[in-house]
Amino acid sequence: MRTSLQSILVGSLLLGACGGGTEAAPNILFIVTDTLRADRLGCYGSEAGLTPFLDQLAAEGLRFSDASSHAPWTLPSIASMLTSLHPAEHGAGGSLGSFKLMDPGVTTLPAVFKDRGWRTHAIANVAFLSEAFGVTRDFESTDIIAPKSNLEMRAAGATTQAALDWLDKRGERPFFLFLHYFDPHAVYAPPSPFRERFAPGVDESFVFGTRQQMMDLRNGRLNVPDGVIRRAERLYNGEVAYMDAEIGRLLDGLDARGLDENTVVLMTSDHGEEFLDHGGYEHGHTLYRELTHVPLILRFPGRVSPGVNTTCVAHVDLAPTLCELADIAPPEQFLGRSLLGSPEAPDAEPRPILAHGNMWGEPLTSWRQGRFELIVGAGGRQELFDLESDPLQKRDLAQEMPDRVTELRLGLDRVQLALEALHRGQTLDLAPEVLESLKEFGYVGGD
Ligand SMILES: [Zn+2]
Repeated sequence: MRTSLQSILVGSLLLGACGGGTEAAPNILFIVTDTLRADRLGCYGSEAGLTPFLDQLAAEGLRFSDASSHAPWTLPSIASMLTSLHPAEHGAGGSLGSFKLMDPGVTTLPAVFKDRGWRTHAIANVAFLSEAFGVTRDFESTDIIAPKSNLEMRAAGATTQAALDWLDKRGERPFFLFLHYFDPHAVYAPPSPFRERFAPGVDESFVFGTRQQMMDLRNGRLNVPDGVIRRAERLYNGEVAYMDAEIGRLLDGLDARGLDENTVVLMTSDHGEEFLDHGGYEHGHTLYRELTHVPLILRFPGRVSPGVNTTCVAHVDLAPTLCELADIAPPEQFLGRSLLGSPEAPDAEPRPILAHGNMWGEPLTSWRQGRFELIVGAGGRQELFDLESDPLQKRDLAQEMPDRVTELRLGLDRVQLALEALHRGQTLDLAPEVLESLKEFGYVGGD
């Protein structure tokens, strides 16, 4: 009760308090596109023509060309966006068959906005984003559909419509709307005309990414021929194009409601998808760039100058950025720093970026510092990549550059020691319906 009373009090003051008393507090539209590789967007170099609407958004806003997620799958990655913490710190994640909730003591971004009077709402399409896992627990209201199968998910069209309908009844307060699209996640089944346009010749009966296939793949029992993965990839591209068109409809809807000028639009993806880049398929299992390089676009007319920022940034930076744009002092807990800060001096030591917490396969940790990335696997196995000369990470330099490995390893070890003290995640006690939904996705159960 205290919180809601506080919200009302603060909310009534908020419009006058922000922006020197003349400007309204900004709305926040936080869009997360599940499983979208950065390299599928035209503005990130794709020539396939999949994303005209996201490209337009990027042209109107600030695009971060070198943005990273902190984990290669949904739960820990999105929890990092909403807490400005790494997976080991917020606790949400775990691994296949042993998922962990977000630490109850962690402060979330929606709680910060809610306490200051924003109307907060989350629309999402996967069980990991249900309140049970903690990620969306602090929104005032949620509309989360966790389908029994990826083929029954709420598609982008219905997701955009849910957002537009909510905008029409949201009330007078400034809003914080978190919107999650699931379409590029397997099973890929793009609707017409995207299927015909981007996956011509792929038979309607071709379905890849079912629960059983995912279980078998993750257990190492599914040997998928390259041709199947390439067909699946074409369908994936179709899903990306379909979702892009629906994001376009959403942004048009924002425009039509006169909300575009005073709404911060932040768009990113939780992770990418592997299509044999390193011999594998799907996500959650490696920390290579096809999974950790994510699109990141920020649009706020008049406040954020359009352009391209090439600094190494990461998802922990999102929450502090939104706080700055809303004139809110970020909680001390937030580890990231605002993306609106002055760009790093060219000779400054680049800020390291940590990723860890894969869902299946060998446990991995990566430490990125500027052009170099170190990936540490089981038993201390190490790989080193120069992302400047080898952005696709085809050439492991660990043997050739032992000094560089040692330097990066020292930084990583220091941080890991601190993080180990923070392993606080609770093993999950799931409601039967949530468990059932995860089973259908192949995330739980098995033999
Ligand atoms: Zn995801």
